[in-house]
Amino acid sequence: MQLIDGKKVAEEIRNELKLKVDETREKTGKIPGLVAIIVGEDPASKVYVGMKEKACREAGFNSRVHYLPQETKEEELLALVEEYNKDENFHGILVQLPLPKHIDESKIVYAISPAKDVDGFHPFSVGKMVIGQDTFFPCTPFGIVELLKRYNIETKGKHVVVVGRSNIVGKPVANMLLQKKNNANAVVTVCHSAAPDLKKFTLQADILIAAIGKANLITADMIKEGAVVIDVGVNRVEDANAKKGYKIVGDVDFAEVSRKASYITPVPGGVGPMTIAMLLSNTYSAFKKNENI
Ligand code: NAP
Repeated sequence: MQLIDGKKVAEEIRNELKLKVDETREKTGKIPGLVAIIVGEDPASKVYVGMKEKACREAGFNSRVHYLPQETKEEELLALVEEYNKDENFHGILVQLPLPKHIDESKIVYAISPAKDVDGFHPFSVGKMVIGQDTFFPCTPFGIVELLKRYNIETKGKHVVVVGRSNIVGKPVANMLLQKKNNANAVVTVCHSAAPDLKKFTLQADILIAAIGKANLITADMIKEGAVVIDVGVNRVEDANAKKGYKIVGDVDFAEVSRKASYITPVPGGVGPMTIAMLLSNTYSAFKKNENI
C-alpha cells in the first residue's frame, strides 16, 4: 500500500506557484490577488479563511479578508462583491459558505464575476466543467484529480465509484473524471443515501472516492483488493486520549482498508490540504488570463 501524501503534494504546488509569482512580479510588477469575504462567526469558517490567507501570503499573493458581522444585509454583501468584480488588484473572489440564513447563497454565488470565480461554484463554471471545457474547477475535486495525476494513477477506463453527490465534491469530481481527456476518461458511478446496497457498488471500484461525512462508513469488506481509495470525509469523533477530546477521521476505516488498498489518502493530510493549494492555483490562472501573461 502506498500512502497518498496530500500535505506534501499541496506544499509542492504552493512552492511551484511561489516561483511563478516571483518570476512574474520581477517581469511585470504584478501579483495575483485573492479576496475572501466571511460573514458571521462560524469558527470553522474563520479557521479555514485564516489558513487560506496564510497560504496566499506565503506564495507571494496579495490577500485580503473581509470579516462582516452576522447581521450584514444581502444588498450589502452584493455591493461588496460588485466592488471586487471591478477591482483590478483582485483576480479571485471567495465568499466563504455557509452564509447566514437571511442571505440567499445562490444569489451571492451568481453575483461573482465568472472571470473571478476561483471557487468554481458559479453555474457558468459548473456548466463549462460539465461540457468538458476549461474553466475554474471546484477546489476539492480539482485537488483529488491532481493527486491521482501526480501519483500516476491511471484513470482511463477505470471504474471510479463516488459515494456522495454534493455540489462541492461528489458531482463535480464525477463530472471531471468522466470527461474524455487525459487524467480522466473513467467509467463513473455515483452513489448516495438512496443506494439500496452500497457495498454492491463500492466492491466494483478500481478507484473509490468517499465524500459522505460519516466516520468510518467505508469498511474493508466494501472494497476490492488493490483498489485506490480517496477519503474526502472530515469527521470529528470523541477521543478521550486527545488533548481536545476529539480527533478527526475520514469516511474510510483507514486501519483496515489500508491493508487492502493499493493507494490510500490519510485523514488528515490527504485531500484536505489540496483544497487550498488548488484555490491558489485557480487564482493564479485567473491572474494570468486577466493580465494576459
Ligand atoms: P454533503 O453535502 O453532506 O453530502 C454527503 C453525501 O453523502 C450526500 O450526497 C449523501 O446522500 C451521501 N450519503 C450520506 N450518507 C450516505 C450513506 N449512508 N450511503 C451513501 N451515501 C450517503 O457533504 P459534502 O459537502 O460533499 O462533504 C462530504 C465530506 O467531505 C464531509 O465530511 C466534509 O467535511 C468533507 N469535505 C472535505 C473537504 C476537504 O477536505 N477540503 C472539502 C469538502 C468536504 P444524499 O445526497 O442522498 O443526501
